Amino acid sequence: MIPKSQPQKPESCRNANYISPPFKHLTKNLPFTPTPHQLFSNREKVNRMPLDIDFMPSYDPASIVAEMRRVAAITGRNKLTSDDFKRFGRVSAKTAAMRFGSLEKAHVAAGLDSSHFKKFTNEDLLKMLADLWVLTLRDSGRSPVVADVAKYGLPVCGHTIAYRFGSWRKALIATSEATHGRMAQPFPPPIRTRAHISARIRFNVFKRDKYTCRICRQSGVELVLDHVIPVCRGGTDAIANLQALCVPCNLGKGGDLQ
Ligand SMILES: [Zn+2]
Repeated sequence: MIPKSQPQKPESCRNANYISPPFKHLTKNLPFTPTPHQLFSNREKVNRMPLDIDFMPSYDPASIVAEMRRVAAITGRNKLTSDDFKRFGRVSAKTAAMRFGSLEKAHVAAGLDSSHFKKFTNEDLLKMLADLWVLTLRDSGRSPVVADVAKYGLPVCGHTIAYRFGSWRKALIATSEATHGRMAQPFPPPIRTRAHISARIRFNVFKRDKYTCRICRQSGVELVLDHVIPVCRGGTDAIANLQALCVPCNLGKGGDLQ
């Protein structure tokens, strides 16, 4: 069996004395003082110190508040995300929210920063969405998608916006309406196109009019097909509504009836 070629380790790793960073304390006789990141970066592998239970004896409000403060001390931030709860906490964000009514109230109870739970009014959200729209149009040439909310760092979750307006698309429609002060018109009004008049009908009209202009009676000049009652006034393409005109007469007639 052919052994698989091992990927080359960096120079420092091939050094026999190399010891990966978390174990440096072993060589230097230093006490191992892991950073929270080293301890908790991968919950499955090295989550806790030995014998450190990963659940709480009690889930009463006081215990949850204490736990939230502990996690806030680990993250070094004054507010907790669901991910913080998941990575560092022994209580889930969901449990904390259920116990206090909402995650915002849990933050208030724990004395943590609850400002990021601020309830934005619909007008606030529409204003944010309008600004976001300008950015995505500039950067990507399109209207914003839910993921752009996080990408551009809006202080609200994209799903919150979608939930507030019924759906993301409805939020965009509301933004468009609010910006233009009218119903959004995603599609321009249809442009009425003039039906192609066949060569046979042209020929029959010119023949009927004896190849002369019906206005100035000139013959032997360039003729064009003209609608007696203009299309813009509801005239049809019926032969009875068609006539031969010379170019100057046709230009002069314009949209008039003749
Ligand atoms: Zn003419």
